[in-house]
Amino acid sequence: MATPQKRRPKIFTVRTSRYLSPHMIRVTFAGPELEGFPEGHEGANCKLVLPREGESREDFDAHFGPEGPADNIHPVRTYTVRAFRKDSLELDIDFVAHGDEGPATRWAQQAREGSFLGFFGPSQPKITEFYADWYLIAADLSALPVAEATLEALPKDARGVAVFEVPSRDDIRPVEAPESVEVHWLIQDNVHMPSTAQIDFIREMAWPAGAVQTCIAGESSVIRALRDHLRNERKVPRKNTYISGYWKIGLVEDEHQKIKRAETAAA
Ligand SMILES: Cc1cc2nc3c(=O)[nH]c(=O)nc-3n(C[C@H](O)[C@H](O)[C@H](O)COP(=O)(O)OP(=O)(O)OC[C@H]3O[C@@H](n4cnc5c(N)ncnc54)[C@H](O)[C@@H]3O)c2cc1C
Repeated sequence: MATPQKRRPKIFTVRTSRYLSPHMIRVTFAGPELEGFPEGHEGANCKLVLPREGESREDFDAHFGPEGPADNIHPVRTYTVRAFRKDSLELDIDFVAHGDEGPATRWAQQAREGSFLGFFGPSQPKITEFYADWYLIAADLSALPVAEATLEALPKDARGVAVFEVPSRDDIRPVEAPESVEVHWLIQDNVHMPSTAQIDFIREMAWPAGAVQTCIAGESSVIRALRDHLRNERKVPRKNTYISGYWKIGLVEDEHQKIKRAETAAA
């Protein structure tokens, strides 16, 4: 079967782009290409194919024949469907503004009305059934979109704890969550250094009784520590945990994905 990159992406056009906070950009795509986009896929991931600097839409489009691209000159990155509004055919994707070194963050920082990119997906949402006594949500900025989508999808009477790690106080934003979910914000200003803020918080917090379901994602070394804690110390069954490394300090996404695949194969 052809890999997603070998097929032809849809091309989505930017309607608006704005900073939600100093390190988070919301890009809203709109237009007839979003006709038929599935509802209820908030939190699902998608693959974004990024045009090269200065590339015209015609050249970008012409690059993808029916058999796929002639070569892999366009970087592909994984992002999350933050929101889709069927009535206005609008799709929101939130991008961490983490500097100039990544093509996706660079694209988002320059995105304006009329900017475009290629889109594959979406996949299935990460958590489709909520059956736990309480919920543990943990995320850095890259995983805030999946965490927010999960909080919004939880039953209104859900109980739980949400722990968000952000690089500055100004990145703290109101999030919609059930009343009985406590929301905690941790500040870690140097995102290029491995952080223990989330694992320290989760180790020390009072662990509620009953079955827990998790939605946890973020930097790979943080995720490794949290996964070990959940499996080995808290004995949380694998089926109740969505936990995933979304990026890794010092690695571009393709290298990080390669390591993740090797680890999954070895597990
Ligand atoms: C399922 C899934 C869903 C995701 N959803 C989102 C989402 O909705 N929004 C989002 O912003 N990200 C999301 N990510 C993470 C995103 O794919 C990576 O951060 C990706 O590396 C960004 O690509 P880039 O081109 O900006 O940087 P790359 O070219 O991949 O990397 C360049 C450099 O930037 C560093 N870097 C990458 N990401 C970050 C970061 N977040 N903070 C600091 N440094 C970083 C890398 O370590 C590397 O040194 C998701 C990842 C997965 C697996």
